[in-house]
Amino acid sequence: MIYLDNNATTSLDPQVWKAIEEIYCGPPLNPSSIHQFGQKAKGYLQSSLNQIAKYFQVSPGELILTSGATEAINLLIQGFSQKGHIVCSSLEHPAALQALTKMEAGGRAVTYLSPHPFKGAITLSQIEEAVREDTRLLIFMAANNETGVKTSIEDIADFALRRNLFLIVDGVAALGKDEWKMHPGISGMCFSSHKIHGPQGVGLCIVRNHYPLSPQIVGGAQQKGRRGGTENVAGVVGFAKALSLIDSQAISRMNQLRNQFEERICQCLPDVLIHGKEEPRVCNVSNIAFLGIEGESLLIQLDLAGVLASHGSACTSGGLLPSRVLLQMGLPKEMAQASLRFSISRFTTEVEIGQAAEIIINSVINLRKLYHGK
Ligand code: PLP
Repeated sequence: MIYLDNNATTSLDPQVWKAIEEIYCGPPLNPSSIHQFGQKAKGYLQSSLNQIAKYFQVSPGELILTSGATEAINLLIQGFSQKGHIVCSSLEHPAALQALTKMEAGGRAVTYLSPHPFKGAITLSQIEEAVREDTRLLIFMAANNETGVKTSIEDIADFALRRNLFLIVDGVAALGKDEWKMHPGISGMCFSSHKIHGPQGVGLCIVRNHYPLSPQIVGGAQQKGRRGGTENVAGVVGFAKALSLIDSQAISRMNQLRNQFEERICQCLPDVLIHGKEEPRVCNVSNIAFLGIEGESLLIQLDLAGVLASHGSACTSGGLLPSRVLLQMGLPKEMAQASLRFSISRFTTEVEIGQAAEIIINSVINLRKLYHGK
């Protein structure tokens, strides 16, 4: 199988497994217990938090561990304990958008910005225009999980600082795929371990700049009461290990592989369009429209031929709907319907990329013949 769906989830890095295996096979560990096993758990937790904080260049007290990025972004949005208007992008992950819908139901005003046609991100000038006297919070993703197009977070964070606005950034699709720094204008960020070869069920929020946050999961004094519930000790150890394995050489290698893949497909197939190709993109995503065919049929053909990709985001791929993100970018429905996302990881090889490209090319040629007789 050639796995090109790494934005849905990634394989566990064997080194991460090694780090957590001894915890799963060892004594029961609850960091809230007073006895010696509890102290051992606390030790694991604290040293992992220190490593994670060092990676992000923040202090351990600025981290809140969660069950994943969905919970993290919900906490950042629904826990935002201030009134005021919110500006965000319509391209955000459903986790953010649905949390915002709840905020609207509670009376909060939200402005959703859509990108200029065929662009994959919101510009600073669009944000400047949308911000009002009563705006308090901005929400933007660092990179889009479906197209890989990057948002100019540095510029937005500068603006947030200048205007004294809170800024939440969804960093999930950028982590391990782009070089970046924690900008002082960012108030809150969310990340997920399973997108970077760490275990599933672990994520985190970085909460800075006196971000006004009220807890959403209560019922325990863990994490200073900011998120109740026994910490996932093995998960956090695995997340810290996965972060330590991110390296910039892998980023440039993935970029090279992704470009090779796109070049080969464009060389051999007419009528293909790579979404966001002219925009700054993270290194691992290629979202391609194969005009004249149904993406869903291609996805099934590829699955049978051993290439695993995605149609829309993993969360919506159960349905036949075209990608919401591509529609928001102004693509006609048929073009969005004809698009598939391929996402690679640092474990994807050149051989796999070459084989996948040939399988895709042949499948598209066959489907076009079937649909149109040519
Ligand atoms: N944000 C983005 C950009 C994502 O791609 C995802 C998952 O696909 C999430 C948030 C949610 O992450 P998790 O699976 O950890 O809940």
